[in-house]
Amino acid sequence: EKKVYRFDEGNAGMRDLLGGKGANLAEMSNAGLPVPPGFTITTEACNDFFVNEEVLSDELMEQVTQAIADLENRTGKKLGHPENPLLVSVRSGAKFSMPGMMDTILNLGLNDQTAAGLAEQTGNPRFAYDSYRRFIQMFGDVVLGIEHYKFEEIIMDVKEKRGVQLDPQLDADDWKKVIDLYKTLIKKETGQEFLQDPIEQLKQSIHAVFSSWNNTRAKIYRKMNHIPDDLGTAVNVQTMVFGNTGEESGTGVCFTRNPSTGEKKLYGEFLLNAQGEDVVAGIRTPQPIAELQDSMPDIYEQLVAICNQLELSYKDMQDIEFTIENRHLYILQTRSGKRTTQAAIRIAVNMAREGILTREEALMRIQPEQLDHMLHRRIDPDASLKTWAKGLPASPGAASGQIVFDADQAEALTKQGKKVVLVRPETTPEDIHGILAAQGILTSRGGMTSHAAVVARGMGKACVCGCEQLKIDLRNKTVTTEDITLREGDLLSIDGGTGQVFIGEVPMIDPELSPEFQELLAWADEKRKLSVRTNADNPSDARKARELGAEGIGLCRTEHMFMDPERVPIVQEMILAEHEDERKQALARLLPIQKEDFKGIFQAMDGCPVNIRLLDPPLHEFLPHLEELLVEITKLQVTGQEATPEYRQKENLMKKVRALHEFNPMLGHRGCRLGMVYPEIYRMQVEAIFKAAVECIEEGVRVEPEIMIPLVGHVQELKRMRVLVEEVAEEIMRQSQMAVSYKVGTMIEVPRAALTADQIAGKADFFSFGTNDLTQTTFGYSRDDAEGKFLHIYVEQGVLPHNPFISIDREGVGELVRIGVEKGRQVKPGLKTGICGEHGGEKASIQFCHEVGLDYVSCSPFRVPLARLAAAQAAI
Ligand code: PEP
Ligand code: MG
Repeated sequence: EKKVYRFDEGNAGMRDLLGGKGANLAEMSNAGLPVPPGFTITTEACNDFFVNEEVLSDELMEQVTQAIADLENRTGKKLGHPENPLLVSVRSGAKFSMPGMMDTILNLGLNDQTAAGLAEQTGNPRFAYDSYRRFIQMFGDVVLGIEHYKFEEIIMDVKEKRGVQLDPQLDADDWKKVIDLYKTLIKKETGQEFLQDPIEQLKQSIHAVFSSWNNTRAKIYRKMNHIPDDLGTAVNVQTMVFGNTGEESGTGVCFTRNPSTGEKKLYGEFLLNAQGEDVVAGIRTPQPIAELQDSMPDIYEQLVAICNQLELSYKDMQDIEFTIENRHLYILQTRSGKRTTQAAIRIAVNMAREGILTREEALMRIQPEQLDHMLHRRIDPDASLKTWAKGLPASPGAASGQIVFDADQAEALTKQGKKVVLVRPETTPEDIHGILAAQGILTSRGGMTSHAAVVARGMGKACVCGCEQLKIDLRNKTVTTEDITLREGDLLSIDGGTGQVFIGEVPMIDPELSPEFQELLAWADEKRKLSVRTNADNPSDARKARELGAEGIGLCRTEHMFMDPERVPIVQEMILAEHEDERKQALARLLPIQKEDFKGIFQAMDGCPVNIRLLDPPLHEFLPHLEELLVEITKLQVTGQEATPEYRQKENLMKKVRALHEFNPMLGHRGCRLGMVYPEIYRMQVEAIFKAAVECIEEGVRVEPEIMIPLVGHVQELKRMRVLVEEVAEEIMRQSQMAVSYKVGTMIEVPRAALTADQIAGKADFFSFGTNDLTQTTFGYSRDDAEGKFLHIYVEQGVLPHNPFISIDREGVGELVRIGVEKGRQVKPGLKTGICGEHGGEKASIQFCHEVGLDYVSCSPFRVPLARLAAAQAAI
């Protein structure tokens, strides 16, 4: 079985087998680009390796040895040859790019003899010994598991003894000294001499790279990015080219467009006389790519041409690694570049305008969830702020929080609900959990393509990097400029769009939507079949949602209006009333307040349908907790205040709380069951709606109220509530001599409602699927408790593929939705149907809603853009 492919035996379509990097190297080799020759070991070989208890099979090693022989033929060099040694890099490369998460080894093939040979051959002993020590260091770290800092310490010692500060100031003899010390370190740590046999070096490196598929950070990264664990990684073995042979050489990374803003302009950076990891690790801060035009114009031209060719052939923005060896350009890898959401949108829209993509393709390029990043707040540009320091604008967005200096601490504090900014000299893949937890990242070293920058952009986190004025002291946990020192826990803000750093918290404002964002969503609107509404219960949310493209309100939860602290006492009066008369008095006080609420919403939604749900939650939610009351009453008792009116009032309250107590309140006296028992509450609400509607119509506002009855399970409930609504509506219309066109419908949120939807449809103008409750009642899982108690374990163990409260359970809950729509439309072909549970703002559930033919989805205001895009993708 073939486990090893020469680059020119593969192509871009073989990502599953060769990984993304391998497939791209193959494609580029075949397109005639200057790619150093090499071969790819397949992901299948990686999976075999894990099945085989992490042993590399003889069969595989045979194919590897053959591939090496072939490489030797093509390059005219030989692995381990003392005068003309072949050197290779060994890199991971999974199907989906996982930057920096797995291991890499460079300069493999060096040993005492070949290093001397390379020195001789190139006439550059400094270069040869620097390369050798890099190899020992990487091999020691990756294969032998010796901690990185131990090598760094040795270099520091040697530099100190020589009285120099920078690596380039060390000469060949210094590096030889470093090499000796490295070897001693390895002997001490492993009990063995440093490995001299190149084939054995290669074997152990392949082993290490395969194993790194399962290191902790790779696992976290996969989990975060929903990459399956069983894909495995390929390994690419490639002839080394050297960017560190002198000032005619260099290495760099470039993006075909700006990954931060999406601007169409070559973007990247390079370092002269350096190897690849110097750029990526952020150890030296590189120069902008434009400067290459000055130092090597011919190479720059060639690079630009290659970038254009690659972008056109992949139809996507590319992230390209290159090396210049003695004025020869080599392309080491290309991949789709990670980018901010802002950039992703601009690139997709521009590529459609340029004719590289169709509009449909452009729409499919954006993950709907990403749009969330565009809606984040940013620093108020009108605030007069004093910039404390300035670095590179690596990933836009603003962040404020307490300073923390390590990733574990960032994670721990975030778990306690604190907001933190992670401040580091540079970040490494080991910091990934801290980056995930932090609001933003600030580094003092490293460029726009450093690890921190790339990872932050991928996550949509604010990041400022390469802020070199900052002195970060990890031991004492301080960050200092010339005159000011901040400590762990102090507040700091960063603006990843400008690179500015501020002391303390700063004022933020709502985001504006870029023209490209608007354009993309306009294309989405042309494609989608589903309408998009919003769940909103106040005018400002309603306005926000409309700005974001909502076409109406799909759920106005009127209980949120009751929760206002100023209104709660009146609501409590209503609940505590002993007689209907008393209750009516309290309701009469609530009426004008509710009416004003509805007016505000109708005005904000002028011309759009507004779906208002009558009161739904169990009444005890508006009363104090029994425990709190008991404490207060006991206090009054021990202070001898039992005769006071306050005491009597509290005691009354407690009686009522006890009386309203239910064992299963979510299955108890709530929803339309309230309207059945206390019709006066629903009457008041309907009166408020219609009075508001009448006043709005008089002011020229176009209103389309839809009155929604919650938690119906039997047609008789809806029948009665409908009569109630119609009676009140008729009465107000008669009094005001005005016609209001309205609809009466129901939520479908218990299985019986879905199963008897044909009967219910006879009394309903619309159905709105309340999939929060429908999930709760279908599974019999409490929506308030399940998650923390057992649901997460169900998901971890694969009992359920995902949390059904987040993404709809197609087989059960979804099936009930399907039945509900079908039966409802049998009786009433034009029956309007929508969804207003949380699922209405979730991509996969929206896809489902499209498939079952709902008319609309409704979601919270900030998810409206997501829903517009997801609905379009469902229709493409
Ligand atoms: C639902 O149950 O899905 C719903 C939208 O209503 P609520 O979340 O208010 O119970
Ligand atoms: Mg509900």
